[in-house]
Amino acid sequence: MTKVAVIGGGISGLCVAYRVQKTGAAVTLFDGADRLGGNIHTITNKGYLYEYGPNSLMANGEIFELIDDIGLTNQILATKAAAKTRYILRDGEPAALPGSIVQGLTTKAFSVGGRLRVLKEPFIASRTSPAESVYEFIERRIGREMADYAIDPFVSGIYAGDPRKLSLTNAFPKFYNLEATSGSLIKGALLGKRVPAKPVPVGMPKMFSFRIGMRALVDAITERLNDVRLETPVDSLAKQDGGFIVNLEKFDRVALCLPARPSAKLIHSLDTEAAREIGSVYYPPVAVIYAAYEKQQVSFDPDGFGILIPGPEKRKILGALFSSSVFDDRAPENEHLFTIFVGGSRNSELCEKDDGALIDLATGELQSILQITGSPVFTDIKRWERSIPQYNIGYEKVTQAVERLQDANSGLVVCSNFYKGIAVGECVKNSVAAATRLLA
Ligand SMILES: Cc1cc2nc3c(=O)[nH]c(=O)nc-3n(C[C@H](O)[C@H](O)[C@H](O)COP(=O)(O)OP(=O)(O)OC[C@H]3O[C@@H](n4cnc5c(N)ncnc54)[C@H](O)[C@@H]3O)c2cc1C
Repeated sequence: MTKVAVIGGGISGLCVAYRVQKTGAAVTLFDGADRLGGNIHTITNKGYLYEYGPNSLMANGEIFELIDDIGLTNQILATKAAAKTRYILRDGEPAALPGSIVQGLTTKAFSVGGRLRVLKEPFIASRTSPAESVYEFIERRIGREMADYAIDPFVSGIYAGDPRKLSLTNAFPKFYNLEATSGSLIKGALLGKRVPAKPVPVGMPKMFSFRIGMRALVDAITERLNDVRLETPVDSLAKQDGGFIVNLEKFDRVALCLPARPSAKLIHSLDTEAAREIGSVYYPPVAVIYAAYEKQQVSFDPDGFGILIPGPEKRKILGALFSSSVFDDRAPENEHLFTIFVGGSRNSELCEKDDGALIDLATGELQSILQITGSPVFTDIKRWERSIPQYNIGYEKVTQAVERLQDANSGLVVCSNFYKGIAVGECVKNSVAAATRLLA
């Protein structure tokens, strides 16, 4: 029987382990922590349910295939209808982002000039460059206002990143491809050929979590694994006789499903140059603050997904999710629960503050933006010292290093959010290719 070591039990490692075990291989999953899930970590505390890491999932065919396979379909919790509305801060006030062409004509989120500039996009000459930042690309194609007020907050919402540093080709390859193949984002979106993808089953939500939170995914996969070793960090990996030695134990194949730094440490003896590239990936710190208020304290109706803060608004928070408006059963009936993000590439130095100062800073900003009076009735904080890998300009060196490592070491694969996608859905999707490669 083929012996496989999966190192790292975040969603990437869990999915690889589950898929490989299903083929009949003997899989051992190692994790250094005392729990599985990595970034996925649901908390239930004093009547609140909140997430330290990912709050929701974007649908793709591979996710629903997995969910069906592990019997979670009836646990899916779609976002509430109101969560379709998303806000940005514009001139100090929350402004709803347009959800339709009609709203696009009247939205307060963008000026008339900014909106008209978008209409010129199909007529701007195409000049794709792999070295372009996300900000430069959007400024060039749809204008500075959209770069500042649409893309900047969007990027901090997904990557906690800096759009002037993120690489367009690596962080948002779809945008790059639209221009490269159709000469325009708008023309490409309307007329371009769609890349065939595994379909999402009819009737399934586009964005969702589970009744008990994101941990449902982790729990259901974990229950199905035969050999899980918690509190067992892997600190050595070497090749031997066509296989690998992992912490002194022999395996035929290995899946590395770790963040970039511990991956670099383990592969150092296999490829020093790849280890250097991979070890250099930047993960900014992020602090996540949870605050609940009685509904009567909140003047602004937080009936939406949340609010993102564009850089030019010069606030100290990146944005906030209106958590109890996005999903049912996240807070007591008479309260609103918010999840506030601080730090990221934009304001990493703020994460040096102590917990009390960060909670005060985050709730103070939120209270002034949403016109909330009094003090929160509940708060909590989670710090991510290294949050999300930044696919910054030049990131192709990292992806090439991973590919070189895999090509030179048959039986070794990498599946992690620093390679080909940071969203949970992308990690699940990438685990299909990783498991196939591992067994090939
Ligand atoms: C604050 C935050 C919010 C996010 N929000 C969203 C969201 O709403 N939607 C979304 O789709 N994505 C979101 N993401 C991104 C997404 O959660 C991650 O990209 C994804 O969960 C990463 O999974 P992974 O398995 O690749 O890595 P990880 O989750 O980092 O797992 C790596 C695992 O490796 C283990 N490990 C480390 N070193 C060793 C070692 N030496 N030996 C053994 N084990 C080791 C760790 O303990 C960990 O369990 C968010 C991320 C963060 C941080």
